[in-house]
Amino acid sequence: MRPLLVPFFISHQGCPHRCVFCNQVRVAGAAGSLPTAAQLLRRIEEYRLGAPARQLEVAFYGGSFTAMPRRDQEGLLLPLQPLLRAGVLQSVRLSTRPDAVDPETARFLKQHGVATVELGVQSLHAEVLELSGRGHGADEVERSVATLKEAGIEVGIQLMPGLPGDTPQRALDSLHRALDLAPAFLRIYPTLVIDGTELARRYRDGSYRPLSLGEAVALCKEMLAAAGQAGIPVIRFGLQPTSELDSPGVVLAGPYHPAFGQLVESELCFDRMCALLTGVPPGSVVTFGAPAGRLSDLVGQRRVNLQRLAARYGVTATVREDAALPPGVISLQWDGPSRHARLFESHPRH
Ligand code: SF4
Repeated sequence: MRPLLVPFFISHQGCPHRCVFCNQVRVAGAAGSLPTAAQLLRRIEEYRLGAPARQLEVAFYGGSFTAMPRRDQEGLLLPLQPLLRAGVLQSVRLSTRPDAVDPETARFLKQHGVATVELGVQSLHAEVLELSGRGHGADEVERSVATLKEAGIEVGIQLMPGLPGDTPQRALDSLHRALDLAPAFLRIYPTLVIDGTELARRYRDGSYRPLSLGEAVALCKEMLAAAGQAGIPVIRFGLQPTSELDSPGVVLAGPYHPAFGQLVESELCFDRMCALLTGVPPGSVVTFGAPAGRLSDLVGQRRVNLQRLAARYGVTATVREDAALPPGVISLQWDGPSRHARLFESHPRH
């Protein structure tokens, strides 16, 4: 069982400047102050009491952890050391900028129980990085991934398709460069226009146009298929809905949807269902089989996939869960021989 996350949002701490799309305070609703040791320990104890059987993992999100002064990093990590030694805490994860990682920093993190670093990469295209005000290039990404891995730290990569200057092809190129770095996982957040950002100003003056929801789903479907082919999991698509994010006037534009990830998975399923229906005559009654947990992805929100199949192929389609199917495989039963398809071909790189 995965450990239970004990999250701490350290909004913009360590950030050398504001990237054009970013407003952590509006997104997460957390002020930019660091928790004290007492606050850290109190929150961990609350989680421990609430789920005594679960392993715990502390996560520091929303800032540039390794760009903070070292004494602030120590202020957050040192109080956790007795809990790590006692096994109350399993590990620590944090997010940071690619240009704020060097070998000495990576060793410091490793020595203090940090098991996973999530790098806010966003893009690996020079012009996109420039227009987004990141303040670093793609080389720093490649260097930081290598440095963290050499120190024995697991690396996750965050990407943001739809940034200024981005195109679907550039986003896919960035993805492939990221996959070449063999991260342990990806998070993919299509760019939203958040109030109080430089991007909001550009959106209002017409110099920036975000992806539509349909464009973002179509692009992320391609990204999911490519990541799956490389054997690298995408552990999250789209920002986690929060009361702050759902408040009026926070997301000004862009492909925000509270179940964005499911839209992407359903779209990929739809493609595979279409492929399975090749040569099946109109008027057929067909049943798709889904492995455990995949049924709703096949059906789609408000049964949209079944409706689209009826309109496109003239078939009456139903779905059923088939526990015998391996994960990632779907089946088709009809008058002819049964057919199977992988949601993606898997060729793990590591
Ligand atoms: S994207 Fe990351 S580095 Fe840029 S302002 Fe936001 S938290 Fe800071």
